[in-house]
Amino acid sequence: MGIATINPATGESMKSFDELSDTEIEQKLALAASTYVSFRLTTFAQRSEWMLAAGQLLDEERDRLAEILTTEMGKTLASARQEVEKSAKACRFYADNAETFLSTEPADAAAIGASDAYVCYQPLGPVLAVMPWNYPLWQAMRFAIPALMAANVGLLKHASNVPQTALYIEDLFLRAGFPRGAFQTLLISSGKVAAIIRDERVVAVTLTGSNAAGESVAQAAGSVTKKLVLELGGSDPFIVMPSADLARAAQVGVTARCLNNGQSCIAAKRFIVHESVADEFERLFVQNMSALTVGDPMDASTDIGPLSSIGQREEVAALVGEAVKLGARVLCGGEVPSGAGAFYPPTVLTGITAEMRIDQEEVFGPVATIYRVADVDEAVRVANATPFGLGANVWTQDASERERFVRDCESGMVFINGNVTSYPELPFGGVKASGYGRELAANGIREFCNTKSVWVGK
Ligand code: NAP
Repeated sequence: MGIATINPATGESMKSFDELSDTEIEQKLALAASTYVSFRLTTFAQRSEWMLAAGQLLDEERDRLAEILTTEMGKTLASARQEVEKSAKACRFYADNAETFLSTEPADAAAIGASDAYVCYQPLGPVLAVMPWNYPLWQAMRFAIPALMAANVGLLKHASNVPQTALYIEDLFLRAGFPRGAFQTLLISSGKVAAIIRDERVVAVTLTGSNAAGESVAQAAGSVTKKLVLELGGSDPFIVMPSADLARAAQVGVTARCLNNGQSCIAAKRFIVHESVADEFERLFVQNMSALTVGDPMDASTDIGPLSSIGQREEVAALVGEAVKLGARVLCGGEVPSGAGAFYPPTVLTGITAEMRIDQEEVFGPVATIYRVADVDEAVRVANATPFGLGANVWTQDASERERFVRDCESGMVFINGNVTSYPELPFGGVKASGYGRELAANGIREFCNTKSVWVGK
């Protein structure tokens, strides 16, 4: 398909772009390296000023940018606007907090025979980010903002179906005042990524995306001993215990499953419900899922737009079709609609068994699976019974159950009585096959810093 915008709501080819030539890639890498020499010496105050200007531009250009996001990958216009607002907020958050997060920390000098000892955080250099299409602005910005505030320079290889968003981001930082070369977009195919990782001017890499892409990038980074952060897939549990507010859980559960047209790594995918409340939860949840409006993502009354491409829809339909063949029951949805666009209806399945791929694999569309469990032990066991470990949603009013889930869920995040989401204030990331490293908060900005220990003798 190449590097192109294809509107998934209509199937229309909107704009295509040439891939960078090897010479152009070389020029961009050279510019990144030369910019870093002076950029690393800029002050936090200067970078904060530029970052606040970037946030301001995002606020001013919210509606125009949101339309690009919606046209490129099909999210509703309302959620595209929220994504722009969230990115602007993150600009302000790191403009205000980066210096504190990276301030020098004194160590116990006397204990180690020093007159002074401390830890300081320094930038690393040009960092390559390989990013996915599902939150085309936010994913890239949540890398770029802390990276730039730490005085690294950024190189973005964005997903091939969101080139206009990718180019907007480069232009945004330039217009905000950052020096040319501080943040560059590389319009390249994934086949060019490994060579760029191996280039000695690139010091580190981060990838958000599928496990297949993560493994390929990890091999390249491992072969040249380069720092890597991986944010990969998820199949988050949504656990409902007897003390939960069922009506609210069934309402938030729909949002948790269907946000971003069901294409979020932290979407709740497996609903694990205590058997004593399962009938009632199932009834409410299916009722709410069935009430969603699927259609034109530009229309304010639409809850769910298309999936990002016909190919993505085929993958979702294949997972559902195979489960049904093996005995899963469809409580709503499950049929691919006719007509243009990559639409797929909100779908709920029950009767999931271990031989179905949907039990173990991530389903990247508005499809929920429901499991019934007898007690906390079984809820924990089912929650942990996938290769993934990104987030966990838990609904209970019981304090001891809460402690149990926080202790035993194999996940990077646990949200109690609410759905997993990302905040600049909280570290974001997973364990197991969901990846390693953290984005956001202080942990995120320190990922791409040299934690330097300093010891001064007497
Ligand atoms: P993807 O196919 O893995 O693509 C992600 C990025 O990796 C794109 O820029 C893609 O470029 C590139 N890529 C693909 N294969 C590559 C390879 N072999 N070497 C180097 N780069 C490669 O994933 P996606 O379909 O865009 O996104 C969905 C996945 O991302 C889901 O699994 C989702 O759970 C995960 N995700 C995780 C998080 C998180 O924070 N944990 C957040 C969002 C999404 P091309 O587009 O050119 O192929």
